[in-house]
Amino acid sequence: MEFNLEYLIRDNIKSLAPYSTARHEFTGEASVMLDANENAIGSPVSLDIGNLHEPLNRYPDPLQLELKKQISNIKGVPVENIFCGNGSDEAIDVLMRIFCEPGIDNIIILPPTYGMYSVCAAINNVQVKEVPLTSDYQLDIQAIADAVDDRTKLIFICSPNNPTGNSINRQDIEIVLNNFDGIVVIDEAYINYARQKTFTTQLVDYPNLVVMQTLSKAWGLAALRIGLAFASKEIIGYMNNVKYPYNINEATQKLALQALKNVMQVNEWTKFTIAQRTWLEEALAKLPITEKIYPSDANFLLVKMKQANDVFTYLQSKGIIVRNRSTTKGCEGCLRITVGTEEENKKLIEALENYP
Ligand code: PMP
Repeated sequence: MEFNLEYLIRDNIKSLAPYSTARHEFTGEASVMLDANENAIGSPVSLDIGNLHEPLNRYPDPLQLELKKQISNIKGVPVENIFCGNGSDEAIDVLMRIFCEPGIDNIIILPPTYGMYSVCAAINNVQVKEVPLTSDYQLDIQAIADAVDDRTKLIFICSPNNPTGNSINRQDIEIVLNNFDGIVVIDEAYINYARQKTFTTQLVDYPNLVVMQTLSKAWGLAALRIGLAFASKEIIGYMNNVKYPYNINEATQKLALQALKNVMQVNEWTKFTIAQRTWLEEALAKLPITEKIYPSDANFLLVKMKQANDVFTYLQSKGIIVRNRSTTKGCEGCLRITVGTEEENKKLIEALENYP
């Protein structure tokens, strides 16, 4: 008998790479991190283990009722329509495991878009149909209709979209909701920064709607790992049945409860970030290397630059990390830059003014 690991691994797992970020790949000293679309200003609570006086021998609430009550108050969505995941990445995975028969069913994604939809699909052996966004990064309604077949279970619409930054036209999303008899997942990770309103108000109108949000962005809690999904009571029921029983640990639940008291502060931060986004847009527009700044409804900007690869490396050498999207189809020659603090944004512009 000869042990052959490669032979044992499922084919669709072989093509996966470990999750890595520009920041973690960078070996130098990074002082300005504008690569992961976090809230650069701060977080409403911080981890002070010494002050957490709670025994940890009991399992946490598997359905996170206290947390959901508070989320319900803030979002105006009933508790029974809320799912909490270990990041919204968990919600993506759970949805795929509920709706997609491995090897048989398919999902539709709209590139350029968030990468986890296709990663989760690969892990779950679910076929991905790609329907590219139009040149102004909107839905190609006809192409989506043409791509749907009777094994299409999920369509992922990211709005505001990562990495392009724009919101997807509301009327177009409604056309998809009205005409597709599978599930439409609207990923609103960046909704706090958007001019466009959330779709959570329309859960009552569309039984096939799932809205995802997260505490990782405007709420400044990326390290805590809390993602949210809003959907019909029935869909949420299935999501709860499929998730791991104790998917949100006790420390996370308690810290999130504390953090969620700070709505006003988070709203102030969000306003500040939006103002900084405008400042950054204007400052970038003045640079000779900038070719195009895409309109953003998020806390980052997609910027087409002359010699994007070189600019990326140059910024790294200055300790400034952004996301290089120059080889992503549909974003050729682009860098994705998170809006930082005032100081970080100034450092970035100063560095770019001195390029090369
Ligand atoms: N959706 C989008 C569009 C994102 O950009 C991200 C994070 N980069 C996520 C979901 C995942 O967020 P979370 O931290 O909640 O897993």
